[in-house]
Amino acid sequence: MTVGIVGAGPAGLMAAITAAQAGARVVLFEKNTLPGRKLLLTGNGRCNLTNRLSIREYPDRYFGNGKFLIKALHSFGPEDTEHFFESLGVRLKEEAGGRVFPASNRAADVLGALFDYAERLGVRFVGAESVLDIRKNRSGAVSRIITVNGAKAVDACVLCVGGQSYPTTGSAGDGTVIASRLGHAIIPMRPALAPIDIVSDELPMIPGVSLAGVRVSVVGDGNILAARTGDVLYTHHGLSGPVILSLSRSLPIGPEEYGGRIRIDLDLWPDGAEEDAGDRMMRLLSENKNSRLFSVLRAYFPSSFLEHLFARTGVSPDVYCRDLRKEARKSLLKVLRNLSYTVSGPPLFSTAMTTAGGVCLREVDPRTMSSRLVDGLFFAGELLDIDGDTGGFNLQAAFATGYLAGKSAAEYSGSRRKVVPGDFPTGGTG
Ligand SMILES: Cc1cc2nc3c(=O)[nH]c(=O)nc-3n(C[C@H](O)[C@H](O)[C@H](O)COP(=O)(O)OP(=O)(O)OC[C@H]3O[C@@H](n4cnc5c(N)ncnc54)[C@H](O)[C@@H]3O)c2cc1C
Repeated sequence: MTVGIVGAGPAGLMAAITAAQAGARVVLFEKNTLPGRKLLLTGNGRCNLTNRLSIREYPDRYFGNGKFLIKALHSFGPEDTEHFFESLGVRLKEEAGGRVFPASNRAADVLGALFDYAERLGVRFVGAESVLDIRKNRSGAVSRIITVNGAKAVDACVLCVGGQSYPTTGSAGDGTVIASRLGHAIIPMRPALAPIDIVSDELPMIPGVSLAGVRVSVVGDGNILAARTGDVLYTHHGLSGPVILSLSRSLPIGPEEYGGRIRIDLDLWPDGAEEDAGDRMMRLLSENKNSRLFSVLRAYFPSSFLEHLFARTGVSPDVYCRDLRKEARKSLLKVLRNLSYTVSGPPLFSTAMTTAGGVCLREVDPRTMSSRLVDGLFFAGELLDIDGDTGGFNLQAAFATGYLAGKSAAEYSGSRRKVVPGDFPTGGTG
């Protein structure tokens, strides 16, 4: 009844806890000395661990593959995640958009609760032990985990070593090598939820400036590849913020496709429901004819951003609204509606929060997270070909798939104890 878990991120820690609760002997292998290095970075160190959206609305947040998660979310959904952490003494709070964080704003509290509880359940953590391979016995079922230090006999194995994003945290793509050696198809991995860099001579030095409700389009050779509306943040190298992060997965990944061909267009003055953008501008100018244009637009945009905007139009910021000529008005509206930047190159794994692609979902049973090809093999977390939007959706997917994989692996290995989500202890870890 030994379950080996490979990778001590959020998916692996949850799988280890659930398998141990189900009565299995659990060994948790981790490449780093300590578990959960990436978890500590989440939400800028505050950890947006789930989202209060209803389970019905969750699939839409995973860019096409969300349906695969329905069974896992019904086994361990956002309410279970909240209940689990609160029962371990982590108080939670809700922020805008249903995002849930620890009340302490410390990701370390989330990791500490998971790890302490796993240890209390008797999970054996083996750190600084990179897993190289998973071997099968003669009947084709998982039997051994091969690490840098030797081999461990197991009855079942959960592979949850993450994708390729932020490889310095440990997730460097090892899972795709191990899974493909076992016969699994891999959808090529690509960076997702990454900032987008802009060529330096177009980049305004306004890091930290953020703009709300912008329509953003990714344009390749003049065609719109993807578009979304949301908040944009200027950085030292280009653009970030929720809408940019979500769109980054639509950018081409080959460097040869850049060289001026890929652009990001911002529409800062989109048509309204009742009035088109031009009419709205005319109305604003006539209502404020005795004011300077710069101070009127300051109600909509930060000053440092307006300086960048005016530099692009050639219109003087000191002009009074009444004096704005037709040509100048057109030029201003054009830049407001199509502030366009050249993207310098493809998004990078080193700055991507998650990974698109991974173990092909067709070969994984969504009811158990078991491999359809190898008995005793289970998958969880970012290694699967599923990536979510910002807002707590990636961690919720890691917890839900980790829970289901741990439970199923324990059952497969012969454990008989039944686990239900509400089973977790009362009385916190402090
Ligand atoms: C900066 C940043 C901020 C983020 N913020 C949020 C957020 O606020 N909310 C949210 O929902 N998501 C967030 N994410 C995404 C989220 O962190 C990941 O989706 C999640 O950590 C995936 O969990 P995982 O357990 O599948 O993989 P990982 O967290 O990557 O864990 C995998 C583990 O496996 C280990 N490992 C790798 N290879 C081996 C091997 N060969 N042998 C043994 N061990 C191995 C790694 O060292 C690692 O510890 C963020 C990501 C980043 C990078």
